[in-house]
Amino acid sequence: MPDLVVAGGGPVGLAAALYAARAGIDVEVREPRPGPVDKACGEGLMPGAVADLAALGIDPAGHRLAGIRYLGGGRTADAPFRHGEGRGVRRTTLHRAMTDAVRAAGIKIVERAVGEVEDRGSHVLVDDEPARYLIAADGLHSPVRRMLGLDRPPEGRRRFGLRVHVEMQPWTPYVEVHWAEGSEAYVTPVADELVGIAVLTERQAPFDQLLAEHPLLRERLQRRPLSRTRGAGPLRQRSTARTRGRVLLVGDAAGYVDALTGEGIALGLAQARAAVDAVVMDRPEQYEAVYRRLGRRHELLTQALLSSSRVPAVRRRIVPLAARLPRVFAGVVDQLARPA
Ligand SMILES: Cc1cc2nc3c(=O)[nH]c(=O)nc-3n(C[C@H](O)[C@H](O)[C@H](O)COP(=O)(O)OP(=O)(O)OC[C@H]3O[C@@H](n4cnc5c(N)ncnc54)[C@H](O)[C@@H]3O)c2cc1C
Repeated sequence: MPDLVVAGGGPVGLAAALYAARAGIDVEVREPRPGPVDKACGEGLMPGAVADLAALGIDPAGHRLAGIRYLGGGRTADAPFRHGEGRGVRRTTLHRAMTDAVRAAGIKIVERAVGEVEDRGSHVLVDDEPARYLIAADGLHSPVRRMLGLDRPPEGRRRFGLRVHVEMQPWTPYVEVHWAEGSEAYVTPVADELVGIAVLTERQAPFDQLLAEHPLLRERLQRRPLSRTRGAGPLRQRSTARTRGRVLLVGDAAGYVDALTGEGIALGLAQARAAVDAVVMDRPEQYEAVYRRLGRRHELLTQALLSSSRVPAVRRRIVPLAARLPRVFAGVVDQLARPA
């Protein structure tokens, strides 16, 4: 039987498989979708994620990111990254680069979903096949999380994300966050002639309607055709625990706050590393404490920004305040951008 099965061949599952192979663990990945896998995502790799991928030998093509820029109410605030550069990378490019690395490491990717999981104490049955451990990296709506009864009922307001691409030369090396009354629009340069735009909002409306809230951005795009819209949500997902016997949850499957601060992949990579460490030590229960420590800073900052931005008067002041206190703004961005 394999030491480890990884459910999910997204960036976090593939990273978990690579960390496991490096530790000498016999691992295989189950992913139902044929590659290259795409997803609604802002596609901004924070400097921490770029560094972690480089350490795994993965250097995906993309566009350099120099920092985060907030725009709103006629004001602009810049927070250059203090520790390394980020990178805007198409999800399909990232998936290809990671899949190549996984295959080069001799790891098998089985094109099949994980359907049933049963913890038998000494091993786990994954669709009736035994494995010593299962790492579930099966995304925001993780079927494994649900199957094991680890889903926590949603609370608070529901937010969604929509993403498109526009073929045009990027006009900035910054991830631009355009703040409007009912949504934020994220602009990420992902290639020399490609710009990604992701809108986060509580409203369920077509992309064009949401974009209309951002006249400055719409003007920039000059009525260029948008690619097909991809959506995701509700963004807030929670789990009651991150391990159940020999099953460990990582990435979005373990829980997600919001895409507002764009560190999902960086955090997921760090979780994948920690989960594999726990498997190597044969102490899966140790992962829970590390998971909490890794996510604390991100959860606090993202939740604080999310809660305050729900109060209209406060929301209107976010960009002016960031512009007036550039060092504080850059400090907060640095906390989110550096390795977890
Ligand atoms: C609008 C939006 C913008 C975002 N912007 C950014 C950003 O700019 N930067 C950033 O770092 N993060 C961003 N994120 C977050 C980021 O996309 C996620 O954190 C990241 O994709 C998590 O990776 P993952 O591997 O855990 O899950 P996923 O990428 O969702 O991969 C999960 C995989 O599991 C597979 N799967 C599903 N069910 C099963 C099953 N039963 N068995 C086996 N496999 C299964 C799926 O096919 C999928 O390939 C954004 C998210 C959204 C929604």
